[in-house]
Amino acid sequence: MPIHVLSPDVVSQIAAGEVVERPASVVKELIENSLDAGASSIGIEIRGGGVDLVRVWDNGTGIPAEEVDLAFAPHATSKIGSLADLDGGTSLGFRGEALHSMAHVARVELLTRTAGAATGTHISLRNGVVTEWGVRAAPEGTTVTVQHLFRDVPARLKFLKSAATEGHQVTSLVSRYCLAFPGVKFTLSVDGREVLRTPGSGRLRDAMAEVYGLDVAQAMLEIKTPAESAGDGTTPLVTGYTSPPSLTRATRGYLSLFVNGRWVQSRLLAGAVDKAYEGWLGVRRHPISVLNIAMGPGSVDVNVHPTKREVRFTQEPVVFNAVLGALRRVLSERAPIPEVRLAATWEPAPGQASGPPQLVRERPAAAQPPLPEPGRAPLPILRVLGQASLTYIVAEGPDGLYLIDQHAAHERVLFERALAERRQQAAGAQPLLEPLAVELSLKQEESLRSAGGALAQFGFVIEPFGGRTYLVRSVPALLAGKGLANAVKEAIDSLDDEAAGASEDERIARSLACHGSVRSGQVLSESEMKELVRQLEQTASPRTCPHGRPTMIHLSAGRLLREFGRA
Ligand code: ADP
Ligand code: MG
Repeated sequence: MPIHVLSPDVVSQIAAGEVVERPASVVKELIENSLDAGASSIGIEIRGGGVDLVRVWDNGTGIPAEEVDLAFAPHATSKIGSLADLDGGTSLGFRGEALHSMAHVARVELLTRTAGAATGTHISLRNGVVTEWGVRAAPEGTTVTVQHLFRDVPARLKFLKSAATEGHQVTSLVSRYCLAFPGVKFTLSVDGREVLRTPGSGRLRDAMAEVYGLDVAQAMLEIKTPAESAGDGTTPLVTGYTSPPSLTRATRGYLSLFVNGRWVQSRLLAGAVDKAYEGWLGVRRHPISVLNIAMGPGSVDVNVHPTKREVRFTQEPVVFNAVLGALRRVLSERAPIPEVRLAATWEPAPGQASGPPQLVRERPAAAQPPLPEPGRAPLPILRVLGQASLTYIVAEGPDGLYLIDQHAAHERVLFERALAERRQQAAGAQPLLEPLAVELSLKQEESLRSAGGALAQFGFVIEPFGGRTYLVRSVPALLAGKGLANAVKEAIDSLDDEAAGASEDERIARSLACHGSVRSGQVLSESEMKELVRQLEQTASPRTCPHGRPTMIHLSAGRLLREFGRA
């Protein structure tokens, strides 16, 4: 092909990839336009994952009739006049690219009316060309409809995922905006079904109740601004909510960060959150946090990339410490203090050959280094002696004493049983006499819809009941009689736990095992203890629970001799 200049049309289609990558980016651009237009109510509708249709309407300022076609011109914006405006800017958009780009890769219609105008204006575009323009009755505000995204751009179409996945990205995106703008009323409908509606009360807790469910919203701890930093423009101000250490999720997907009202992803700040919870959370558990960080517009660069949500901070350590400090404060004020317990240092520390074990503040499991041994060595035959602290089974083996954590041991047993039954297609299901109604969060609802089949393989039967309520008709037999609502939700959450490095089946089995097993504090009869130890002996990895913590501590005969000064 001879060298030639690409037509402006082709250039537009290529450049469109920068802002319009997938349905979620269309939704993002349209929502941000509505927010920039001062809307207090924004409706979003998608069909076919947003590929067939995205529609966003708002009650914002609208666009004056004489500016409507200009809105679709490249680099046409009402938001900045010069680059300098960027620094002081508070608008979400400023590139003037979104509408232009969309019109080149989809069929776009816009209907708008400003407060002063008697009638609205309507415009349709195809391949960037206006096909219809006219006057029409319209409510105050703007409605944009984007249909058949990438239908005429096969090279881009083929990069889209399934409608379910694209739709999932849209709902997760809209959820973030609901949290970032609790003063705005949002509704989202997916394929004709309303999945989200926030009240727009201005209270973040109300928005969280819609997105995460009422129980989560009630448990969340509020991050208050310390009086000394209020009004001080130099340090970033962190507000929002974060979960107490007892309320965790198996994925990082419940961290929402907003910098000056803009949803961002930031490894730096995610790291600060992890650090704040260090020592509080179990292995692979993550908090739910919604953090608003306000800072001078000059301290943050949002102009890094048109679509990427990364931002650049001019003073990273300052922002990091602001987030860390805000979370640490609320956690230490509101969360329970870990108990002071006897450290399990059975082996005297070097240079400290005698003396009783030291009282130390026990470090929670998360902070401990990973166990070196995979726990696969088989167990010897053990003789049960009794139960200690209603938590440990005391047993004797050929080489000394064993303290077995009854919960961890039972978890191991149930975990392997659940997986074995699943493999043999023999999962025991327990139909419930009375179906159990559970209220799911949006995310849980989606996980259930996209990956619920895996749960069914374990014996769950869960049916939609209306709204976000679901009826549980049957559960895996090993959950019988336990706190079912929680068990069901955790099992659903486990579907979405990409970070855990385990297969979907393993994650489900782990969650079932955790809920189905005996708790510490539960009295066990001698025969129950014998049975549990016998079952543990038969597992493939008896020495660790499915989360990798030890099921037992071994006091070897030699160690006992030494401790008692007999050797
Ligand atoms: P940008 O948002 O970067 O300015 P867009 O292409 O998204 O660029 O929009 C172009 C212009 O169209 C905006 O600057 C704004 O004036 C107008 N506009 C777009 N959507 C809306 C809306 N929902 N309400 C009012 N004006 C809008
Ligand atoms: Mg815009």
